[in-house]
Amino acid sequence: MAYNIYSEYPPPLTADQEKYLVQTVKNWSIEHALAVRPSSAIVSEEANPNHVLATNAPVTLFPSPFPKSCFDQARSLQQVYNELYAAVASDEQWLEDVIKELIEVDDFLANLWKIHLSVKEEGYVQDLTLGLFRSDYMLHAPEDDEAAPPSLKQVEFNTISSSFGGLACLVAELHTSLATYPSPANSVAYPPHPLFGNSSSPDQPSAINSVGHPPTNAAVATLTAGLAAGHQAYGPSKSTPPLPTCVIFLVQDGERNVFDQLALSTFLYKEHKIPSFRLPTSQVLELTSIPSPDANPARPLIYTPPSSPSTQYEVTVVYFRAWYAPTEYAASTSWAARHHLERSAAIKCPSVLLQLSGSKKVQQVLTSRPPGPDHLKAFLPDHPTATLDNLRSTFAPQYSLSSPSSTTTSSSTSPEAEPEGIRLALSEALAANHVLKPQREGGGNNIYRTNIPPFLGSIPRSQWKQYILMELIRPPPAAKNTVLRSDGQVVRGNVVSELGIFGTCLWRNPLRSARPQILHNAEGGYLLRTKGKESDEGGVAAGFSSLDSLILY
Ligand code: ADP
Ligand code: MG
Ligand code: MG
Repeated sequence: MAYNIYSEYPPPLTADQEKYLVQTVKNWSIEHALAVRPSSAIVSEEANPNHVLATNAPVTLFPSPFPKSCFDQARSLQQVYNELYAAVASDEQWLEDVIKELIEVDDFLANLWKIHLSVKEEGYVQDLTLGLFRSDYMLHAPEDDEAAPPSLKQVEFNTISSSFGGLACLVAELHTSLATYPSPANSVAYPPHPLFGNSSSPDQPSAINSVGHPPTNAAVATLTAGLAAGHQAYGPSKSTPPLPTCVIFLVQDGERNVFDQLALSTFLYKEHKIPSFRLPTSQVLELTSIPSPDANPARPLIYTPPSSPSTQYEVTVVYFRAWYAPTEYAASTSWAARHHLERSAAIKCPSVLLQLSGSKKVQQVLTSRPPGPDHLKAFLPDHPTATLDNLRSTFAPQYSLSSPSSTTTSSSTSPEAEPEGIRLALSEALAANHVLKPQREGGGNNIYRTNIPPFLGSIPRSQWKQYILMELIRPPPAAKNTVLRSDGQVVRGNVVSELGIFGTCLWRNPLRSARPQILHNAEGGYLLRTKGKESDEGGVAAGFSSLDSLILY
């Protein structure tokens, strides 16, 4: 392509134009709840003692260009990915083989596994599991051929608390309104650019195949339809007399990303007439109960709203927007509360097994290919080889860090990959092209490049196996964008974007050792997060990234 989409974008703004655009974005954000509660770094406790304030979510002023072929590919794979992770979470033995070496050195995973074993021993009373997933990707540019088109590589697959569907829809709306506002009288619409379809310059290609604004984002409708599918599949109340039913949004105490969650709960009621309640993790044991086995062996989860204790509800689905990180289990009752939810009849989104299925270790093991075990074929036997190859093409190379001496009898990891991972991680030159990932979620946990060898040197060798090593995805030469941060600062620079595709899946699996019976499998909605090129990490909540939308070309 003669015209370089990245270097010529976004269209330049005069200082006055930028000021006006920023003011418009600030106002639009609050008008439409594209907002977060501010951190105490933005507004002090003294200045905001009653926590009434909200501010704009960090957003880019322009949507980022993204190749349509890669976007379409990510979308086309989502239902296959949904099915893959449903199958992993349904194969308890396979999962145990993969994570048992981690459990030896990782208390967090060990506690989760213990909950599964304990509920299994008592007997599960719910055979349905719901996943609200987000598969995250970056574009990868081949190093030796700058002209070659970028390919799509998966960063990770999230099986718990996949967030920002609500706000991502709003960013797409914001950018669309800025790109399509009636011109030419309008001074808010973006300046002319071929990607917006409002350029008249003859040397700018009409060949750019853009519709001028971001695609509609269906994340809220998709995620909410997933919750509704779980709610319906739960069936009638198992209590006598029957209770009204509800969905629970399990949230962190002091959650700042509350408007993202409210976008879902509001839509769940508006569209599906399903009531939901926000339950902070600290109040699980106080506000929910399970009847004794004598009173009701079905173990319905009963929720008592603090605002009207006389009206009890039976919980159909517990949607976890919390409890994905060890730091969230600081209270002495946290693990008991997690166990309490797991043994109930409510459908968990996710179950403990599904949360464990999303660990980075599982993702590394799934990249194994013949002559190693072909897990994809085993988990997805009904899909043609071409589909599996397409899915496999999104994998970046990943390696185990188990040393040969700690190799168990597991047949699930490729034995020859293990020394390779350690060799790459310990060489400064080779580590420079890699990221070291622990079994954690939420951003800010990884070790990058040349920090890897000294980091491994600083911990006992017996601990190495709790990490996986992944080749760095190398995004194309940087695009530019401008970000309005939540503290009002405007930051310009070279950026890198990460695309997330949302998907939902509901399945039945009474045995936990067989293929799942899939009842609902949907794809829809996207998240684009954009960060400064120099930043390794990418989380929005963790403070590294901004919310963005995309403009396809
Ligand atoms: P988490 O579950 O904590 O979000 P991720 O695997 O998504 O863990 O890693 C966090 C961030 O690190 C990503 O958002 C991305 O910016 C960066 N990252 C992770 N893996 C890679 C990779 N292979 N190449 C480049 N960047 C990566
Ligand atoms: Mg994650
Ligand atoms: Mg991530």
